[in-house]
Amino acid sequence: MKILLASSEVFPFSKTGGLADMVGALGRAIVNAGHEAVIVTPLYRGIREKFPALRRVDWHFNLPLGQQWAQAELWELKRKGEAKVYFIDNPGYFDRAGIYLENHISYADNAERFIFFSKCVVHLARYLPWQAEVVHVHDWQVALVPALILQQKNAGWANPPATCLTIHNLAYQGVFPAEAFALTNLTADYFGPDGVGVEYFGLLNCLKGGIVFADHITTVSPRYAREITTEELGCGLDGVLRENAGKLNGILNGVDYTDWNTTQNSHIFKPYSVTRPSGKRINKLELQKQVGLPADEKIPLFGTISRLAEQKGVDIQLGALEEMLNSDIQFVQLGSGSPEYERGYRELAARFPGKVAVQFGYDENLSHRIEAGCDFFLMPSRFEPCGLNQMYSLRYGTIPIVRATGGLDDSVIDYNENALKANGVKFHDYTSRALAKAIRKALAIYQQPQLFRQFRRNGMKADFSWDKTVEEYLKVYQSALPRA
Ligand code: ADP
Repeated sequence: MKILLASSEVFPFSKTGGLADMVGALGRAIVNAGHEAVIVTPLYRGIREKFPALRRVDWHFNLPLGQQWAQAELWELKRKGEAKVYFIDNPGYFDRAGIYLENHISYADNAERFIFFSKCVVHLARYLPWQAEVVHVHDWQVALVPALILQQKNAGWANPPATCLTIHNLAYQGVFPAEAFALTNLTADYFGPDGVGVEYFGLLNCLKGGIVFADHITTVSPRYAREITTEELGCGLDGVLRENAGKLNGILNGVDYTDWNTTQNSHIFKPYSVTRPSGKRINKLELQKQVGLPADEKIPLFGTISRLAEQKGVDIQLGALEEMLNSDIQFVQLGSGSPEYERGYRELAARFPGKVAVQFGYDENLSHRIEAGCDFFLMPSRFEPCGLNQMYSLRYGTIPIVRATGGLDDSVIDYNENALKANGVKFHDYTSRALAKAIRKALAIYQQPQLFRQFRRNGMKADFSWDKTVEEYLKVYQSALPRA
């Protein structure tokens, strides 16, 4: 099969979260499975410098954006064993300090930027000599692609590709004032009425448009697929999702173990594995030194890496740590996002000197070191479509403590579910108290070395490799084909 993947972020070129990891890994997995994949993504600032093998393609095109036109140039990168990547170059839109925002404020022209990008994706799908059979778009930034393809099909595009939309996080829908609809150049009937178009409550809702017009929809875990059809976690789109439930699947993300492993990884201090676990000790001691905590292998070390957003449970985490840091534990966190949450962590660090280390910003290297060096990883999310860090933690022998929601529930096994296979600690209520209780359970496990080793071993042996995940996507692509 020939699959075109389109995403506003793709690892290793650009990344703000799990979306980038997933699309990068999916491209590689499709190729490894013997199919063809091409990835389309914007050319952001710095990519050309970091990847000098990028080559300019002798092809540029102008596309309408409402009454105006915008120009795209094209770059490509070929890598052995990987999906070919096309980069859309428009310096006005993409040569900026951030991907979506700067100084915590979203760019005012995000509708224009990503509608333009979506149109470029459709243009490539239509005019590249390599003809995709399925266009697989990810999140709201490219969710208008299925509608744009449909319009061109109705205007005479014979044999357009089937479309698949993956929802990585329903909380981000790409909602803009109704006037932004003009930028799509779709005909007025695509803007409603009665929920059939890209309109939702009088506004342009890109993700809703994707849900309605894509041939197939997936989301990133089976439990999240169920949750988003409920009022509680449907972010206002649960009704639309229920109406489209027949084409909705939940597929748990895989982990790219070529990037996330403990045996061949230049980020970490010492390699280790399930059969040779001793190096984990060195990673703990070196991490403690690096972040300025007393280097003591006996003190249980808890860690977190996350976007500092409401979704991630920062509020209950701060409350639980406040209580638990009175015992002999250490905590290290890496994150970036809301200034208010940053302040919360800074205050925590000030109140518990020598016990809490906080780092702000994006740091790939430190993220591997935290995964490798900690004993426990905290992920108390309010909701979590899939979550990758808990799966990285399992492989790194770092026991995850998670709230039983979305992909966290699907990927971690609690002692109460299966005493022999348990690899993490789960809690249910979204409260500091419930999290503190889960941390106390973790400490009880830590105090029983044999049990602790068993949890760790179970985690390191868990297999979330892409071979399994990609099979499920290939089935979806197959089933999307005849429907188109
Ligand atoms: P989300 O996509 O909601 O942010 P995921 O758990 O699916 O959450 O994926 C987060 C990804 O981003 C992981 O690869 C994680 O290691 C990475 N990450 C998040 N924050 C940072 C940070 N401050 N520095 C480095 N990596 C980060």
